[in-house]
Order: sequence, then structure tokens, then C-alpha cells
Amino acid sequence: MERIGVMTSGGDAPGMNAAVRAITRWGKDAGLDILGIKRGYAGLLNEEIIPLSDSDVSGKVNRGGTFLLTARSEKFRSEEGQQKALEMLHKNQIDGLIVIGGDGSMRGAKKLEEKGFPTAFLPGTIDNDIPCTDYSIGFDTAINTVTNIVDKIRDTATSHERVFIIETMGRHSGVLTLEAGLAAGAEAVLIPEIKFDIEEVCRIVAKGYDRGKLHNLILVAEGVDYTHGESYADRKNRVVFEIGKKIESRTGHEVREIVLGHVQRGGAPSAKDRILASKMGSRVLEGILEGKSGMMVAKEGNLFRMISYEKVLNNEVSIDKSLYELAHIIG
Ligand code: ATP
Repeated sequence: MERIGVMTSGGDAPGMNAAVRAITRWGKDAGLDILGIKRGYAGLLNEEIIPLSDSDVSGKVNRGGTFLLTARSEKFRSEEGQQKALEMLHKNQIDGLIVIGGDGSMRGAKKLEEKGFPTAFLPGTIDNDIPCTDYSIGFDTAINTVTNIVDKIRDTATSHERVFIIETMGRHSGVLTLEAGLAAGAEAVLIPEIKFDIEEVCRIVAKGYDRGKLHNLILVAEGVDYTHGESYADRKNRVVFEIGKKIESRTGHEVREIVLGHVQRGGAPSAKDRILASKMGSRVLEGILEGKSGMMVAKEGNLFRMISYEKVLNNEVSIDKSLYELAHIIG
């Protein structure tokens, strides 16, 4: 392999730039041509392909977002779209493609792999919902971002003795909410994987004030189904307000609701994410060069290994119930 393409796809995550930088510099050092594909699969279909040099990735390690830009592409999901993608890869004499993104982006890479084109994948998502790897790049930064914001909310919550219901990202996965909730000392954490009883949440709030607490902070992952049965699109952005109304009417304490939104995706990557991105970037490039295509780079303890797409897709991330219990006992 002499010419390797790299793209960022799906939702952006802090550390993506550091990963592209590592792939480019590691690749250049090995005498390869590294090509950046802008706007994920959408950009590949439009042939938005640029050569990357050492200097193109200079000053990027500390930048959030992705300088290659990212997008979602409906067209790429079709057979016709995938054939066009292969045509673009061959036209630009690209021998292998590294995709950085979430699980959807990996499914896209798998389609190309199944059609005989070598691909490798690097997990980048703030949700940390990709199986078989301890961490995805972006997760550490996002936990720190959410924790810092909740610390600030606590100041005003305490001054006014209010309850705050804080919606965090996590449509299917509550890992970010749970870990940030534990780090920020939230009184309760509500996540999609574990059913909760609203009456119990009200009791936690009331008991807290009875014991002399001056605030109550409740973190709610956006995917929590409080409106019972409504589709995610219908209940989107309403859940925290419904929960807030209920708690206010049951406990008589003043409640405020906050949807954190996209602020959770932004910001300079943490040192931990930069290091993870650098290690994963160099390892995934080595992997594809060694013929380990159709595989994802994964962190397992101190090791970085290549794991097949099949294995990743046949596993699921399970929530750490002991962490959930700990958050509620000490919160
Ligand atoms: P995030 O976790 O942040 O949402 P993601 O990578 O999971 O990131 P998706 O929107 O699911 O984001 O996927 C990104 C793109 O990958 C899609 O727009 C589509 O082009 C492609 N893709 C996703 N799933 C498939 C699939 N099953 N087959 C082919 N392409 C897919």
C-alpha cells in the first residue's frame, strides 16, 4: 500500500484532529502518500480529496472538532452510493481507507470492505458506545466538559436552593451521563439502559432537602424514555421538562431545566484524548499496512489491538451497574 485515505465521519469528537495528525505524520515517515477526504462519505462521493503533508496537520493537535469536516450521507447507504465511492477511491489510486467516527461510520467502512476494498476503523465518539475498546476518542474530553458545566450549575443551584435537571447527550448510551454524574456528584443519574421510578427520584430530592442539602442536581441522558412509548423524535428535548414539572409538583421545590446540547462535543481535546488519538492513529495505520483490514483499533488495558468489524458488531457495551449504584449511594 502506498496511498492511504483518511476521513472523519458522523458526529465530531474532540481528538479527531490529533488522530488525523498521527496518521499523516506516521504515514509520511513511512514514505506513504496520505490523502484527506473531506466531509466523510459525502465528500468521498463528491471527490473532495486533498493530499496531506506534515505541515497541513501542524497546529491541529490541540484543536477540537475536525479540520477535515464531517457529514452524514444518505446516498452512501445505497448500493449505487457505495459503487460510486469505490470508483472515487480507485480513480484517486487510494489503496486503503481509514475511517474515524462512530458505529454507523464503521458499518459504512464494512460495506466497502465486503466489496473488496481494504478499510480500517478508529473509534471516535463522545458516547463511548463502541464495544471491544475501553475508550473512544472524545469521551474523556466530553466527561470533563460536562463535569465542569455541572460544577458551575451547582453554584447557582446552591445559591437559590433549586433542583436542576440537566440533559446530557446519549440517545442510546448512558455511559457519558453516568460517569459525568458520578464525577460531578449529582444526586441522581437517569440513563436509557436502566428503568427508573419517578416517585423514587422525587423521594431522593425531598430527602436531600430534609437532610439540609441546598441543591439537587439530576443528570438525564437524552435517550431516557420518560414519556413512555413516544418515539425519540416526538419526545426529543421535552423529557427533562416533563421530569422537572413532576418533581416540582411532587416536592414543592423550585426546578430549572437545562439541555446542554452541542457544547458537549466542542472544546480542545484533553491530554488523555490527544494521547489516545495519537496511539490509535499510529496503530490503525500499522494495522492496515500489515493486512489487518476490516478491523478496528481498540484499547484493551495498556494494549492496542486490531479487532474485526464482526466481533465489534456482535458485542455490545454494557453499563456498569456498580457505578450506577455507587453514583446513587454517594450522590
Ligand atoms: P455518531 O455515533 O456520532 O452518531 P456515527 O458514525 O454512528 O457517529 P452515523 O450517522 O450513524 O454516525 O453514520 C455516519 C455515516 O456512515 C452515515 O451518514 C452513512 O453515510 C454511513 N453509514 C451508517 N450506517 C451505514 C450502513 N449500515 N451502511 C452503509 N453506510 C452507513
